[in-house]
Amino acid sequence: MSQWFVEVAVPVPLRQTFTYLSLNKVKKGCRVTVPFGKRTLVGIVVASHSDFNGTVDKLKPLHDILDGEPVLSPILLTLCEWLTHYYHHPIGEVFHTAMPVLLRKGEMLPRDTQQYVKITQTPETLVIEQLSRAPKQLNCWRHCKDNPATLAKITKLYSASIVKALVDKQLLEVIEKPTINESWHENINITGKPIANREQAAAIAAINQQTGFSSFLLEGITGSGKTEVYLQALEKVLLAGKQVLILVPEIGLTPQTVNRFANRFGIDVAVLHSQVTNPERLLIWQRASTNKLGIVIGTRSAIFTPFSNLGMIILDEEHDDSFKQNDGLRYHARDLAVVRAQKEQIPLVLGSGSPSLETLNNALTKRYHHLQLTVRAGAAVIPTQHLLDARDQNLEYGLAPGTIAIIKSHLEANNQVLVFINRKGYAPALLCHHCGHSVECKRCEQPFTVYQSPPRLQCHRCEKTKPLPRICHACGSNELITSGTGTEQIEAGLNRLFPQYSQIRIDSDSIRGKNKLANILSKIDKQEYQLLVGTQILAKGHHFPHVTLVVVLGCDGALYSADFRAPEKLAQLVTQVAGRAGRASKPGEMWLQTHSPEHPLLQDLICNGYQAFSRFLLQERRHVGLPPYRVQCVLRAESTNAELAYDFLMQGRQLLTGGNTLQFVGPIPALVEKKQGRYRFVLIISAHKRSTLHQALRYGIPNITQLSLSAKVRWSVDVDPMDFN
Ligand code: ADP
Ligand code: ZN
Ligand code: ZN
Repeated sequence: MSQWFVEVAVPVPLRQTFTYLSLNKVKKGCRVTVPFGKRTLVGIVVASHSDFNGTVDKLKPLHDILDGEPVLSPILLTLCEWLTHYYHHPIGEVFHTAMPVLLRKGEMLPRDTQQYVKITQTPETLVIEQLSRAPKQLNCWRHCKDNPATLAKITKLYSASIVKALVDKQLLEVIEKPTINESWHENINITGKPIANREQAAAIAAINQQTGFSSFLLEGITGSGKTEVYLQALEKVLLAGKQVLILVPEIGLTPQTVNRFANRFGIDVAVLHSQVTNPERLLIWQRASTNKLGIVIGTRSAIFTPFSNLGMIILDEEHDDSFKQNDGLRYHARDLAVVRAQKEQIPLVLGSGSPSLETLNNALTKRYHHLQLTVRAGAAVIPTQHLLDARDQNLEYGLAPGTIAIIKSHLEANNQVLVFINRKGYAPALLCHHCGHSVECKRCEQPFTVYQSPPRLQCHRCEKTKPLPRICHACGSNELITSGTGTEQIEAGLNRLFPQYSQIRIDSDSIRGKNKLANILSKIDKQEYQLLVGTQILAKGHHFPHVTLVVVLGCDGALYSADFRAPEKLAQLVTQVAGRAGRASKPGEMWLQTHSPEHPLLQDLICNGYQAFSRFLLQERRHVGLPPYRVQCVLRAESTNAELAYDFLMQGRQLLTGGNTLQFVGPIPALVEKKQGRYRFVLIISAHKRSTLHQALRYGIPNITQLSLSAKVRWSVDVDPMDFN
């Protein structure tokens, strides 16, 4: 009998694989179950060898081989290897992240079957007699006799009750058969395609001209018809029978978006986001990998979907933060998309009205093709932008008289008004008017946010809630006042100021529940609301043809933030929100209410727009040596004992050597310096060249893992961090 030594990657935070004994050779990419300590884990095989240099006695046999053929395709295996090296992350956890939950749990791929409807043996004359008083059922039976079809199709054509009646009468039966490999591309039926304008046509031609790998930045102002460019660029790919993957931000994935793709091509569009059930997710994974699906639209983790014949990747709103995972394997789906497109030798289109500085830099330095759309499609024109000076004004519910007057004039003209404030709740703090004490979450050392519906205090870091106090715990005074403004307060204020107009508040609290956002969006579309108040959920990708005024509140903080990305993020948000106005025939305007109307960044953004502003920010980053002109990595550590976390990073810093080519900042407290009772610190490491940084990490991290403190604190490595929280 032969003996095999199988290398297995298991989902544990250890940067190594483990060897197990097996009587059979196991292919790379197959799942096995193995004993690990007292547990049994599902791991991925990375190699099988017939010999072993070590003590064989200590090796354990693996339990079961779950797959005959690899569940991870060669491309996915390559991507996982890339992720492991680039993010310096344990390989077992990388595989784990790349797989749908059910595969992680060791479940089998479902058999890909479908239910078909078939007539039974009953002779036609008898059927006609039996159904003489049920003409609809007879029609349905006749249909099934002439063209047997899937249960889903017949149910759609007739109805579930008719099919059930016929099944009950034993005139129809439902059988399960393997899915026929329908060639979805033969069903493509293109409808509703407008004629591309000059800029769109140039962009589409540029994308379709490329064969093999290339990356594009489609920089188009909001409403310029980027989606139309995607649709027409995809057309050629789909008609050639190749599949496409479309990645969108977490809250940008609405039925509106999906329908645009489904309606244009008339084929099924598979959707992947956090609310898709695990069995559905697995089925999409399987159908995409066997080319039974032409279009997959999904959020971040959809980048791991296997395709047998992928022809193009589109990543919309590429600047959006939700493409970066901020726990576990901290990968950026945009960067992974570039790697994937390269391995698959296909084009990648990154689209945005406010591109990230990283992508913009790649386009300006000609690493990516740069395509630009500078005018709005159709009849719409770009909204005008203004600053409203709130200094010395009598604010009502956080609104200056000037702001209230503008809102009034737009409402009176029967238009919709969108008021944007990126802060949930009623107010961000509760203060004692007598002694100044602010009510803080002890575990996070951060003021509680005040809520009115229902009344409570809630910590935004740890979600802990508390009843509203009546008196100050520090001095006993009963004069407690709120400080600052959130969505609930604006909503309450607008209700007082404009009681005759119906209003809707949209933030992550108000849209909880399935399809809630979709329902609200459709009501907005039907003009059932005149006033829309909300957070950044309202800023993303939605099309509001009746909104003519956008008011932006409460963004002065970002001008003075310790995070060097804050101005970029603010500008992207403001540009996206402003883009919600004037998307149809009516012109739109945006007013930003501020206490810093003379701030040069605001001036530049409002007067010159994102295009000019972002190029200016890039210059500034170059001067001070920040990404994308330097590469960064953050080592994070947290512990209930601040000293341990700090010391760990201090020792870590000593183990990362790169001569004087590495630059260190820290250890310093993270921007979120305490959360859930844990003190958090960061060590920021940066270098001119990516290779220098990676080399330092490659040598340093195994040593850091060996530190005795490494088992006592929670720590992680974040390559290309997007924040210092
Ligand atoms: P973006 O994705 O850049 O925000 P969209 O693709 O959503 O822009 O286009 C904005 C609006 O303009 C949509 O209603 C779209 O149907 C319309 N549109 C886009 N391109 C054209 C075109 N070439 N002709 C007419 N209408 C267009
Ligand atoms: Zn007090
Ligand atoms: Zn808290």
